[in-house]
Amino acid sequence: MMAIIKERIPTPERLIEERLQGFMEVNLGYTFELALQEAQRCLQCNPAPCIQGCPVHIDIPGFIKKLRENKEDPKKAVKEALEVIWACNTLPAITGRVCPQEDQCEAPCVMGKVGEPINIGKLERFVADYAREQGIDEELLQEIIPKIEKKKEKVAIIGAGPAGLTCAAELAKDGYQVTIFEALHKPGGVLVYGIPEFRLPNDTIEKELEKLKKLGVEMKTDYIVGRTVTLDELLENYDAVFIGTGAGTPKLPSLPGINLNGIYSANEFLTRVNLMKAYAFPEYDTPIKIGKKVIVIGAGNTAMDAARTARRLGAEVVIAYRRGKEDITARIEEVEHAKEEGVTFEFFLSPMEFIGDENGRVKAVKFMKMKALEERDSKGKRKIVPTGDTTVLEADTVVIAIGKTTSKLLRMTMAKIEADEYGVIKVDEKLMTNIPGVFAGGDAIRGEATVILAMGDGRKAAKSIKEYLEKKANNT
Ligand SMILES: Cc1cc2nc3c(=O)[nH]c(=O)nc-3n(C[C@H](O)[C@H](O)[C@H](O)COP(=O)(O)OP(=O)(O)OC[C@H]3O[C@@H](n4cnc5c(N)ncnc54)[C@H](O)[C@@H]3O)c2cc1C
Ligand code: SF4
Repeated sequence: MMAIIKERIPTPERLIEERLQGFMEVNLGYTFELALQEAQRCLQCNPAPCIQGCPVHIDIPGFIKKLRENKEDPKKAVKEALEVIWACNTLPAITGRVCPQEDQCEAPCVMGKVGEPINIGKLERFVADYAREQGIDEELLQEIIPKIEKKKEKVAIIGAGPAGLTCAAELAKDGYQVTIFEALHKPGGVLVYGIPEFRLPNDTIEKELEKLKKLGVEMKTDYIVGRTVTLDELLENYDAVFIGTGAGTPKLPSLPGINLNGIYSANEFLTRVNLMKAYAFPEYDTPIKIGKKVIVIGAGNTAMDAARTARRLGAEVVIAYRRGKEDITARIEEVEHAKEEGVTFEFFLSPMEFIGDENGRVKAVKFMKMKALEERDSKGKRKIVPTGDTTVLEADTVVIAIGKTTSKLLRMTMAKIEADEYGVIKVDEKLMTNIPGVFAGGDAIRGEATVILAMGDGRKAAKSIKEYLEKKANNT
């Protein structure tokens, strides 16, 4: 019997000094040899709890087995592994990089009980990256495309984030004529405007978008549904509609000084840098001025992305969080990288007031010091209460990353769609809204969630749309 290797095979990472020079990807991923060593650690459990932990139920031992079985022929190994992954997930290069695996597939991994869980995310990423580098994904796509039977029905997709893109890909593979309407000038949703390139390089997303185009999906950018075209107009011209508009409106606290210059929502800050390339001003039109001291408020993935971005722009960065270390919601890898890159953390601080200078620019933040009780709230988190003590931290810039909600525009212009008080769209178990033929998924129906859940919804909605259109065709 082979000895169990308890520790993970580490993935190479870029040196810290090099990271802070720009926006190059930090984690460099496995080589075939390293991926194979990690794959050898998998126990091939049956039943496999990791599959249950994955929101889209990828056959994880199945794809790992394909890597191991064909170790003498890397191309064959990766092609077969990719086929297994594609059965449930068409964007593995993205999910392999951004999924919170430690809370999903890797959490119940049996290897975690005797040592470290299998590095499922990095293996998934390896398969996707190697397939792309070697043209294996293109080969598979070219095998799929000629088999697609074109259908006459047309489907409109609103929003080109992971939910919309997945729904579009699945419908196009089934032969439907699909058009995506995207408000921004670039498709990708949060994947391009929110998550920075040091975590998810833009060319990874562009390659995925090329695949969609090859499947025949039409992409209309700078197209705001509710303004450029209405939902009713879409319904006159399309047989079904999918809404994947996300939850892109930032939540801002109603505190004194919130309108001072130098206070950004994380969305604006990250969009300026990621999408508008503000770090290269004046070569690009959008400027960003952040000064020497930046305070980021919040401790989710968005907060880590904003903090690490500010470090790359040369600032000292403090993350101020109203709860404790154990309540951080960001992926563990992002927190570790943020610390390595010199971001410091201040816990149990809740903002009370933003203090400005004589020019109306923020110069400090006043915080209430908090403390945790033993009692838990409805989400199982320790309750926190003010201590009565306050503290003031200086700042040239403040970035607020305390959450997002759905767009008001959508609520105003699609008033017929039923939504809850926060604008989160209501759907049935098939992801259909109250309007027949209009489906929705992703953050638009969940509030802020994750990439893989948005993709899972896109896939589920595509299946429901297909059933809906087939039923409609049979009734006419
Ligand atoms: C900074 C940041 C970091 C994150 N990090 C992670 C992470 O590491 N891991 C993870 O799993 N999740 C992460 N998330 C969450 C994740 O990105 C989202 O849950 C996911 O992108 C939701 O996908 P979606 O397709 O529903 O919406 P989105 O990605 O928000 O895409 C919606 C798209 O719809 C478009 N749109 C909106 N309104 C209209 C309209 N009226 N007409 C036309 N188009 C419209 C928008 O422009 C956008 O392109 C992060 C989020 C942020 C903001
Ligand atoms: S639970 Fe872990 S060890 Fe078992 S099959 Fe899944 S990845 Fe492999």
